[in-house]
Amino acid sequence: MQVKEQLLKLKPYQPGKPIEEVKKEFNLTKVVKLASNENPYGSSKKVKQAILNELDQDQLAIYPDGYSALLRTQLAKHLGVDEKEVIFGNGTDEVIQIICRALLLPGKNTVMANQTFPQYKHNAVIEGAEVREVPQVNGEHDLEAMLTQIDENTTVLWICTPNNPTGTYVKKQALIEFLNKVPKHVLVVVDEAYYEYVLAEDYPQTIPMLKDYPNLMILRTFSKAYGLAALRVGYGIASADLIQKIEPAREPFNTNRIAQAAAIAALEDSEFISECIDKNKKGLQQFYRFCEELKLDYYPSEGNFILIDFKRDADEVFQALLQKGFIVRSGNALGFPTSLRITVGTEQQNAEIIEILKDFV
Ligand SMILES: *Cc1c(COP(=O)(O)O)cnc(C)c1O
Repeated sequence: MQVKEQLLKLKPYQPGKPIEEVKKEFNLTKVVKLASNENPYGSSKKVKQAILNELDQDQLAIYPDGYSALLRTQLAKHLGVDEKEVIFGNGTDEVIQIICRALLLPGKNTVMANQTFPQYKHNAVIEGAEVREVPQVNGEHDLEAMLTQIDENTTVLWICTPNNPTGTYVKKQALIEFLNKVPKHVLVVVDEAYYEYVLAEDYPQTIPMLKDYPNLMILRTFSKAYGLAALRVGYGIASADLIQKIEPAREPFNTNRIAQAAAIAALEDSEFISECIDKNKKGLQQFYRFCEELKLDYYPSEGNFILIDFKRDADEVFQALLQKGFIVRSGNALGFPTSLRITVGTEQQNAEIIEILKDFV
């Protein structure tokens, strides 16, 4: 047996520690996970009802609609795009995989920021493509430097905005100027997993740009603000022509029946999303005040997480929080060895973690 050589150099995804394990290890009754940018308020109540209704149909023995037709219609309406301009994935993670399967191979290369969402690189390596990582400046993508990395063998370029793990974003004018300079043979993937949380006024609305840039693709997800991470629904938006070309790289039944029903219901409850966004904004302010009080460096965030520099080994701070029942993400795995990425929780959770951090620092 011989697996692809490049797989031997990769590690399987390391998830945050599960809550049950931490409870046992430290003998805790309450453990809060602020590690994966999940929605601390769960999801809309309408979602639960939609799932129960779906179960009542007794259709679990039947394959789901592989085209996600009902969800597709609702989502296309919601976004103001054509139904043919959408591709669904078992999470956006799968859409990233589909893009890589469809466009990357040995001899081709892909350009991305360093540090950014690790799945772009991971999937590109599996496909045997060359990965060109461009160092960030102040936690932001260096678009000029990324342009210089493009050549005739570049097929995909990734922009994560807001960027995971820094929370920074690409401004509208900068994105337009960039897109004007990128050669048309390069697919520019703009990952907007945290789109719903963004409040910055100069954050670009990319959907109307699709008509001007046929080499643009937008990624979004139901896992973050919509609170459906467990159900795995993400999607890409691009020209009908491009979607049609990459569709064969998608698994036939990649989004399941329950998830499709849940996503439709989640879309209908815009009030839930507005509330979450409002609370997230206040939560970020709790962390900003904390950082300013303790003179800690951080990046202002447009997502539901914040990267804070503690100027000491991140794993130490991570462990101190873990013992007190808070699971966060150590920057060690994210390319920021002295920082933690903390998901914004409820007001109470934020206050509690901040208290512990104050004691520790
Ligand atoms: C969470 C996240 C995703 C993946 O979301 P899923 O839909 O759950 O697979 C993609 N991109 C970024 C930047 C993320 O943070």
